[in-house]
Amino acid sequence: MLALAGYPLGLDFLFLDRSRDTPAAQVAPSLVGEFTDRRLLRALARRSELITFDWENISVESLRALGREVSIAPPLAALATAQDRLAEKRLFERLGIPTTRYAAVESAASFMRAMQLVGLPAVLKTRRLGYDGKGQAVIRRVADAEAAFESLRGVPLILEEYVPFEDEVSIIGARNRDGQIAIYPLNRNRHEAGILRLTRSPWDMPKLQRAAERHLRKVLVHFRYEGILNIEFFVRGGRLIANEMAPRVHNSGHWTIEGAATSQFENHLRAILNLPLGSTRPRGHAAMINLIGKLPEREKVLAHEAWHWHDYGKSARPGRKVGHVTVIARTATERDREARRVLRLISSSRRP
Ligand code: AMP
Repeated sequence: MLALAGYPLGLDFLFLDRSRDTPAAQVAPSLVGEFTDRRLLRALARRSELITFDWENISVESLRALGREVSIAPPLAALATAQDRLAEKRLFERLGIPTTRYAAVESAASFMRAMQLVGLPAVLKTRRLGYDGKGQAVIRRVADAEAAFESLRGVPLILEEYVPFEDEVSIIGARNRDGQIAIYPLNRNRHEAGILRLTRSPWDMPKLQRAAERHLRKVLVHFRYEGILNIEFFVRGGRLIANEMAPRVHNSGHWTIEGAATSQFENHLRAILNLPLGSTRPRGHAAMINLIGKLPEREKVLAHEAWHWHDYGKSARPGRKVGHVTVIARTATERDREARRVLRLISSSRRP
């Protein structure tokens, strides 16, 4: 999606990924191997003016080792923070961004202390390499604690209070080296089994929008950020509680391809190249529905004027995001009705 947005800007792309069979390989030349492979990273650096990433579980050390050979954006300090839930929480606290109560867990003894500090219910998470709800266990009662700890032990953990949220939202914005900032309207997100299923934007909640923008700006300025940054929040009692950040284009911003004057992908490229940022103005009311595990019948989606089909060309696998559908409507009510129709189509195509 980055390459598709970048070709009209006159850019060329070279990708590095672990498999030959990736969406990126369909649209640009690719190097195939591990993200820690020095030889491949060197080749990537030699052949590129700038390196960026759209996945955060890559090795900061390997990228750092490239030194001054090539520019890298977003900043590696932001990447390192986003890779560690504990560092992320500390950053939010330092910048005055409300976040969940939490405690680091390094051992059985510190787990007991963490439960006393955080209280129950709570969520035990791996500090690193968690995504789509993986590496997490909810602890509702003391009796759940041992099984949760056993299921995740062996790696550094964090215990967070369980937030009985009313909503989940994310805010996406870009900053370029000159300090220009462009922020999209708030995304209202619904997850199923820890995986994003539905994003609707804009969400007309001026107070939340202002607060989210204020928080995002603080992080962008803190890192002298270049590129797109996303922060996810829980909404509880009309207030935002930061959950996590992603220093990259984000799934909850996929609606911007058809739904905003400039997509998050184009604005990421503009930002890392220090070009003027594009308008984030919404074009109507958008809903993005992830296609998880398998695709519905393409014809059934294409038959709708307001529905936009995205097939990533990935092989189907349970829990894997293999595409998305974006709906653009004139009103929020119409958008919600269309989104429900897409969700019904998906659930009917799931049945045997
Ligand atoms: P994460 O990987 O932290 O984004 O978590 C994935 C999803 O799990 C979130 O979007 C929430 O739906 C849920 N979740 C994560 N942490 C918490 C929490 N502390 N309280 C309630 N739900 C949570």
